Amino acid sequence: MKRRLFRLPLFAALASFAALPAAAAPEVVTDIPPVQSLAARIMQGVGEPTSILPPGVTPHGYSMRPSEAARLQAADIVFWVGEGLTPWLEDAVESLAADAVSVELMEAPGVALLAFGEDGHGDHDDDHGRKEEHAHEDDDHKDEHGHKDEHAHKDEDDRMDEHGHEHHGDMDPHIWLDPANGKAMLAEMAARLAEIDPANADAYKANAAAGAAELDALAARVEAVVAPVRGKAFFTAHDAYRYFEHRFEIESAGSVALSDAAPPGPARLDRIRSEMREHGALCVFIEPQLDPKLARTAAEGSGARVAVLDPLGADLEPGPGLYPALIEGLAQSLADCLGGAQ
Ligand SMILES: [Zn+2]
Repeated sequence: MKRRLFRLPLFAALASFAALPAAAAPEVVTDIPPVQSLAARIMQGVGEPTSILPPGVTPHGYSMRPSEAARLQAADIVFWVGEGLTPWLEDAVESLAADAVSVELMEAPGVALLAFGEDGHGDHDDDHGRKEEHAHEDDDHKDEHGHKDEHAHKDEDDRMDEHGHEHHGDMDPHIWLDPANGKAMLAEMAARLAEIDPANADAYKANAAAGAAELDALAARVEAVVAPVRGKAFFTAHDAYRYFEHRFEIESAGSVALSDAAPPGPARLDRIRSEMREHGALCVFIEPQLDPKLARTAAEGSGARVAVLDPLGADLEPGPGLYPALIEGLAQSLADCLGGAQ
């Protein structure tokens, strides 16, 4: 009798312990605010990830501050897109975060990769064998929409002249701009976090499922927003929106800068100007992270409006809400400018 009386409170105490996080949340470091946002969604109720890149800077070229290097040093796990987006981060992850788990999201299962613009299409990549390396990519989308051939009018030589061959055969790193990739990134983050922090595995799993449903709803909203402006001609500041365009079946007529956001040379700028006239571009989009001067120069005299398209969420509150707001913001910017009065 006495034993039984003691047992009940003991069980109750154990049960309430089990409901609390068993240990401190892991130190999770990410590269850019959209990736931080997805990680924050997975860690909701458990902990908060950090982002190395502050809002409003381009990831393509960056020098880490000491505080950011220290963050990397303290990391248990690093979620980053990959060296294609942040070449400067590769050595830093290897040296500063040597003990941390490094997760390159471009390699994550279910993340569908698209080839770099003009030179990524057609047969050019076959000699490099890159397609085999990325066998997890979801080629069905390309076949469905036939996008492979639609970019054929773009000029391959241009990229090679200005930037050498380093990107040739590589894949476009702007993977987060397709919410289907966002879902795959959520799943990968949940799985990898569960490995290093099994005590919170259930929370990560539940957050991944809820987050995936949110991204499905997001995609449906975006679909409705962009539908009225499909087929309207626009140019972007840099070649970053392939994933968004592919998912939602819109297509930019070109970009002022290439995918690495390096400023275009005078020859490219001239060509972009004539292409803008040729395509009757309605809008040229600048970005908060890039100097708008060249895009404005390119737009001069073309009749195109200049508006903002932000692939990183410079003005958005960091955290779980940033990613959906960023994707929806892209759709709204496109719809506002392209749907506006001529
Ligand atoms: Zn970019």
